[in-house]
Amino acid sequence: MLVVQKFGGTSVGTLERIRTVAERVLARQRSGDRVVVVVSAMAGETNRLIELANALHAIAHAQHAAHNGDPGPDSKGWVAPLKRDDAGFERELSQLMSTGEKVSAALVSMAIQDLGGASVSLVGHQLGVTTQGSYTNARIVSIDAERIHALLDAGTIVVCAGFQGLDEAGDVTTLGRGGSDTSAVALAAAIVADECEILTDVDGVYTSDPRVVPSARKLDRITHEEMLELASLGSKVLQIRAVEFAMKFNVPVHVRHSQHLREGTRIVPETPNMEAVLVAGVALDRDEAKVTLTNCPDVPGTIASLFTVLGERGIIVDMIIQNASRDGKTDVTFTVPQDELQRTTEAIGELELVCAPGVTLLTDAQIAKISIVGVGMRTHAGVAAKAFSVLAHEGVNIQMVSTSEIKVSVVVEEKYGELALRALHDGFGLGTP
Ligand code: ADP
Ligand code: ASP
Ligand code: MG
Repeated sequence: MLVVQKFGGTSVGTLERIRTVAERVLARQRSGDRVVVVVSAMAGETNRLIELANALHAIAHAQHAAHNGDPGPDSKGWVAPLKRDDAGFERELSQLMSTGEKVSAALVSMAIQDLGGASVSLVGHQLGVTTQGSYTNARIVSIDAERIHALLDAGTIVVCAGFQGLDEAGDVTTLGRGGSDTSAVALAAAIVADECEILTDVDGVYTSDPRVVPSARKLDRITHEEMLELASLGSKVLQIRAVEFAMKFNVPVHVRHSQHLREGTRIVPETPNMEAVLVAGVALDRDEAKVTLTNCPDVPGTIASLFTVLGERGIIVDMIIQNASRDGKTDVTFTVPQDELQRTTEAIGELELVCAPGVTLLTDAQIAKISIVGVGMRTHAGVAAKAFSVLAHEGVNIQMVSTSEIKVSVVVEEKYGELALRALHDGFGLGTP
């Protein structure tokens, strides 16, 4: 059997844990399997590197403000920040962040050698991981499997640095937060592995984040589509693109604990009887912010101009609500990733639309999005109504709603996010009996 084993940050977070990883990998190889390992940076390392970069920029920003007299927000609340060479910064940030995974790959490989195994670590460019897209949110387009196969044929364990690749210009790129999951599944697809194990700090995929919902239950299996929705709606146990790769290339994925050998959760294609289960899981996303433009002229082209400027900047808009017209004016509310809020307000500031009389911009980062997900919703009515009743019973006000075939999402005030998550989890009978 050919297996890819991916170990996350906590699982390689200390030298003792790295030793444990090496033992597990070697035991697997000695049982007769061929093993490719993918590692994340040691727990906290990626955050530390990002903080270093941001702290450096903050010093420059403070100096800039001191020298130029900080103008502060203008009458509409838009702030003119220090102009930064965004592409240049992102390039260096990727270069910086990719070091975290290089360190853990080398250490895991050394630990395997210390235990008498044959092992080689390889980083993104040595693996031929070619990417497209931005420096810090790149997408894998191809991987060179040849070198890995040659090493495996020689009985060597290959330890790969996750999260990174090289773009067509030869620059180091990274795959977005949690991207080592995607490295692992993409590698598994490229070498046609029999299975990709995601070894982490929980027993598998739960009905909700077990850190937030104590009654959450581990699922034995979950469909690709449900996992895709949960991942994109805030369950960070797997990166979205990892699930997409698994689906597209039919890679069997098994999410399980790195510290013991019990079965975890298998991500599987949907089978007909799965619709019997109404809701598979609920997710909480605190990373979005809400933007409202009031009193926009209700004429063709208003919304188009607004979302065009955001699209041109690569800002991904999630939920959108446009209210019915009153006296030829309308309000538009939408959500964007919280870390794009400043760029969003800057982009809107450049629009002619905002000069129209009465137009005001309101932003709110204190929101939480809670989503319930399940393929059973396709064949059952009344899920949204039940969710609204559960929240009403808890006295939680709903600000926005969006639905798809297999999910219902609501936006609520951030301070009620966890309460709402637990209420919906237990309201749909997902808790441990
Ligand atoms: P790793 O470092 O191994 O990649 P992550 O921190 O990225 O681990 O992902 C594991 C974490 O995901 C868990 O510790 C848990 O808190 C969180 N999580 C969120 N939603 C879920 C869920 N539905 N099931 C399991 N874990 C979840
Ligand atoms: N180290 C990266 C992160 O923290 C990638 C990963 O862990 O998957 O986002
Ligand atoms: Mg992760």
